[in-house]
Amino acid sequence: AKRIGKSNFQFYQEQLPKKVYGDTELETLLRKAIEREEFFLVYQPQINAITGHIDGVEALIRWENNIYGLIGPNDFIPLAEETGLIIPIGEWVLRNACSQAKQWQVDGMKPFSVSVNLSIRQFYQDNLPTVIEDILTKTELDPQYLVLEITESMAMDSTIASNVLQQLKNIGVKISIDDFGTGYSSLNYLKKFPIDYLKIDQSFVQDLSTDKDDREIIESIIMLGKKLGIGLIAEGVETADHVDFLKNLACNVLQGYYYSKPIAAEQVPGFIQESAFSND
Ligand code: C2E
Ligand code: CA
Ligand code: CA
Ligand code: CA
Repeated sequence: AKRIGKSNFQFYQEQLPKKVYGDTELETLLRKAIEREEFFLVYQPQINAITGHIDGVEALIRWENNIYGLIGPNDFIPLAEETGLIIPIGEWVLRNACSQAKQWQVDGMKPFSVSVNLSIRQFYQDNLPTVIEDILTKTELDPQYLVLEITESMAMDSTIASNVLQQLKNIGVKISIDDFGTGYSSLNYLKKFPIDYLKIDQSFVQDLSTDKDDREIIESIIMLGKKLGIGLIAEGVETADHVDFLKNLACNVLQGYYYSKPIAAEQVPGFIQESAFSND
């Protein structure tokens, strides 16, 4: 009988989970997912450290497939980007997030913002501002409550990016730079472009208790934001230590498991009612 060497076996084992779904099969399923209504959004609260109340929520997509179960965005957004499916999926996300934000207001809740992640493909599609304007009109959401999260990797120095950002700004939506500090762009765009918020990447927050460099990077980002009049949001806030450190530096808005994991839309009103986090 053929013997499988130990290292071969391990190699095979490690590969196995990835092969459960091949990219073509995943792509086929992804193409059908919108019409089959397999996507849903969860919302992660963003807490204002000064008031202890909710400032907004970030919409995060989930995919529930009847064969493969729950598939996280890290496992299908890259493929959606490669195949261009991110355009219809991204539009679905925008429409649903805006419609939900409006619904919360109609239900009588004090308005708060909803942040939506945009992929580079969406950002550079021909008509993004028109698409967004259209969704805002149809859902009747006041544009000031929509925050678009984009990443630095979106080649911020180009004229196209500058035009798109200006058009979005004219519509009245807010712009946030996600994963700030991990991209490659020159910081020059921060003063040239209409940026409302910087989201300090969670990799810096994660180790701040033990890593002095991470603390200093966070401090520098906060100082930079304050000097330029840009709002600051820290993500990946998991512990009381994280909260203390960030509050001491007057980082206004905090998001992470310490306050809440992403939750279903129906859970948001209850969360807001029950959670008035103390501000001392
Ligand atoms: P992101 O935009 O940086 O979102 C933050 C991720 O960190 C989320 O993972 C969130 O659940 C997770 N997270 C939040 N708080 C904590 C914490 O305290 N500790 C830790 N360890 N993690 C925390 P998720 O939902 O799996 O999303 C992963 C990424 O997928 C997102 O990263 C974003 O880049 C992308 N994504 C999610 N939804 C969408 C979407 O609708 N459109 C696009 N284009 N991308 C999306
Ligand atoms: Ca984000
Ligand atoms: Ca992020
Ligand atoms: Ca990320």
